[in-house]
Amino acid sequence: MLEELKERVYRANMMLPENKLVISTWGNVSEIDREKGLFAIKPSGVAYKDLTPDKIVVCDLKGNVVEGNLKPSSDMPTHLEIYKNFTNANAVVHTHSRWATIWAQAGKSISAYGTTHADYFYGAIPITRKMTDEEISSEYERNTGRVIVETFVSHRTSPSKMTACLVQSHGPFLWGEDAISTVEKAVILEEIAFMAWHTEMLAYKKETTTLKMQQQLLDKHFLRKHGDNAYYGQQG
Ligand SMILES: [Zn+2]
Repeated sequence: MLEELKERVYRANMMLPENKLVISTWGNVSEIDREKGLFAIKPSGVAYKDLTPDKIVVCDLKGNVVEGNLKPSSDMPTHLEIYKNFTNANAVVHTHSRWATIWAQAGKSISAYGTTHADYFYGAIPITRKMTDEEISSEYERNTGRVIVETFVSHRTSPSKMTACLVQSHGPFLWGEDAISTVEKAVILEEIAFMAWHTEMLAYKKETTTLKMQQQLLDKHFLRKHGDNAYYGQQG
């Protein structure tokens, strides 16, 4: 039911200011119904206090609005590009959360320094290259999606094992199974970005390579939750 999808996308969007991941009208969440080939997304420029489920816009996979009276988020083409290329992505979240955005502005990927990171992200959170003048001047939002996809293809990173990307000079994009859990992951990314910055600062005399957690520990924590033989949590 599209009404349920819109309601869920509305609630997920409201979680952005509630968790202090965005201020003003920044940020956006969408979720796709893969069978119908439709996704619901926040409308453009609407303040969160004025947002209601019926203001959520529904688009098809060509980017046409099929339901709703408002314009979709200006980042809609970025979401679309992620949906078309990452088949495991059923929801997309974009924020300008402070600490993750600081890393994006510094042009640095976030290395895995501990098990908090490894429980959710299998390795460093990648950073895109800078976009070219041509990419910025035409189809900017779509090209933002393309540069995310390119980062994963060129590094042979699986978008199912790594479900976040920092867009350089911009901020984080994440994807996941549904809108609510993907916003929760954005909250965790923000905490990890905060911790990683402080880890590097406190241990600034050490090489960051020596700070990186052991591959074995990274494997243990990520795969016990997300691997084929995951055993974390309640079974059955
Ligand atoms: Zn943005």
